[in-house]
Amino acid sequence: MNYRQLGKTDLKLSQVSYGASPLGSVFRNISEQEGIKTVHSALDLGINYLDVSPYYGDTVAETVLGKALKGISRDKYILSTKAGRYGPDFADFDFSAQRIEASLDESCARLGVNEVDILFLHDIEFADMRQVLEESIPCLLALKKAGRIRYAGVTGYPLKVFSEVISQYEIDCILTYCRYALYDSSLTSIIPKLDEASVGIINASPTGMGLLTERGAPDWHPGNEQLKQASLKAVSLCQSKGVDITALALQFAIDHPSIASTLVGTANPANIAKNVEWASRQADAALVSEIQQIFADVPCTWPSGYEQN
Ligand code: NAD
Repeated sequence: MNYRQLGKTDLKLSQVSYGASPLGSVFRNISEQEGIKTVHSALDLGINYLDVSPYYGDTVAETVLGKALKGISRDKYILSTKAGRYGPDFADFDFSAQRIEASLDESCARLGVNEVDILFLHDIEFADMRQVLEESIPCLLALKKAGRIRYAGVTGYPLKVFSEVISQYEIDCILTYCRYALYDSSLTSIIPKLDEASVGIINASPTGMGLLTERGAPDWHPGNEQLKQASLKAVSLCQSKGVDITALALQFAIDHPSIASTLVGTANPANIAKNVEWASRQADAALVSEIQQIFADVPCTWPSGYEQN
């Protein structure tokens, strides 16, 4: 496993990291034991960064992750969680300072830790941006100053929100998702700005939340029908060449030198082993081009929050 520095923090993250949303049964119903085994496999195979949120499975993912981490020395993993998002609707967001502080305490209790390494504001495109800039980020920075979190970041789907935040604040990192994958690599449009500001980049969902897997996207996937059809075509093309599309998707995503770590979600220990093995090999560049061609004229983004893409 390779490890990369996250921006100007002192965190060295495994290039492939573990996204714990499946522990909240967001893709399929999972057994707690299987989830716990998956976390242990990840740590055993050199994955040192774990990401979760109270939103995943309505706090279930944090609770299961907490059980998995019980008894494991705190220096064996780097942990991020989030605050601000608690459900799918606008009414389920609360980016007030009071809620962020309470949320951090609740997350730490569920996770069984005294502090998290990174606290993210979760999906800020659903927030009033004035509140984010005037109240929520100052709250994160105060928590950092008080030693209650080590680093502060924001997550979101539309790329515009990151530019807005970093033009005003020195945050440590961002968590972006579905924007650097085989079907859409638009994250590259803001990477120079992030690099210039030494903001660490964590990229999530290299499979596009299941699009680039043989099982396919879950019913709730926000992508349009054209994107889902193109993804099925991409899966078939890979199958015809004897390549698992998830391998190619992961190898493509981790290859960008500015991305410190790529978060993959699964609640299956065998998938973790495959992901770690796949990450040790390069993507087939010719096949990558062929797959990218399939998506060339397909609208690959979707509206999220108050932003259009
Ligand atoms: P992902 O691209 O990692 O896809 C997960 C899907 O891929 C699941 O269906 C899983 O079973 C499947 N998969 C994983 N490994 C596989 C393998 N080897 N073979 C076949 N299928 C495999 O998307 P994700 O889970 O949405 O994202 C990863 C993590 O990133 C999340 O768990 C979360 O921690 C983080 N994330 C954060 C945000 C945010 O903060 N807004 C958004 C999305 C994701």
